[in-house]
Amino acid sequence: MTTFSFEFFPPKTEQGARVLWEAIRRVEALRPDFVSVTYGAGGSSRDRTVAVTRRIAAETTLRPVAHLTAVGHSVAELRQIIGQYADAGIRDVLALRGDPPGAPGGPWTAHPKGFTYAGELVELVRSLGDFTIGVAAFPERHPRSSDWESDIRHFIDKCRAGADYAITQMFFHVEDYLRLRDRVAAAGCGIPIIPEIMPATDARQIHRFAELSGVAFPEDLAHRLEQARGNPTAGHRIGVDHATAMAERLLSEGAPGLHYITLNRSTAALDIHRNLQTSRSLSVR
Ligand code: FAD
Repeated sequence: MTTFSFEFFPPKTEQGARVLWEAIRRVEALRPDFVSVTYGAGGSSRDRTVAVTRRIAAETTLRPVAHLTAVGHSVAELRQIIGQYADAGIRDVLALRGDPPGAPGGPWTAHPKGFTYAGELVELVRSLGDFTIGVAAFPERHPRSSDWESDIRHFIDKCRAGADYAITQMFFHVEDYLRLRDRVAAAGCGIPIIPEIMPATDARQIHRFAELSGVAFPEDLAHRLEQARGNPTAGHRIGVDHATAMAERLLSEGAPGLHYITLNRSTAALDIHRNLQTSRSLSVR
């Protein structure tokens, strides 16, 4: 069965929290397979991730997936956070290495008593209980990987360490996803790789994300969004139509699910999902 799921981030303000919870309630009505909450670079944002994820578990019918990164944490701290999740009945962790705070492309420094790679965090979570563990996958390969061969090898290490599934980085060319999936399968790992769907409704915002993540943003889409600048309705339509076409193609190519980025405002993600539901050729719930 094809899964569908939504990603949120921990809000900074009370107004942000209100917007988030409205989005969570809208998404809940659709009964998605899971929702995930991202993990920030440090301090209070991390506490908010734990708080939001626990509240979703306690107050909604949704299945929350907790993102967790190794950045700045000792192994003892990571154990404690995983324990907090387990106490709250949360059994799903997306185990990530994370990026250096402030400069995603800057030099990586592990905590002196921590981990260097996500595979080690997967092993830790696996050793601590009956968790379902997700990991990250990169259709354009990880920006720090010098070649595909090492990138796939290290991805396979995460499978062997106990990953149950992967979610991709956002991407805009379906072929990149298909190539990654086929390379991973050819290397002997059969875990589902769920494509992440980013509705590109605002050129400036997407350029910023693409720059931060090193993802290639299609020029024709950028051009159309530029022309729609100042007209949010037109931008919304362009982004939703583009993402719907991508999602249809991904599903027809056998993608195991779709993970929608919501930016805490579920509107575009829900419009894409509705488009897919009304498309006669697809069997998304
Ligand atoms: P790794 O799998 O550890 O890979 C990092 C690099 O190291 C790769 O180049 C890999 O090939 C290489 N490598 C891995 N193992 C080895 C090894 N044994 N020896 C040598 N090299 C190795 N970041 C956040 O801060 N918070 C979030 O909530 C968050 N959510 C994300 C969700 C998704 C779906 C994705 C795709 C990314 C997310 N990220 C998040 C970003 C992610 O943390 C960064 O992209 C990070 O740079 C890579 O994380 P990873 O888990 O893939 O790391």
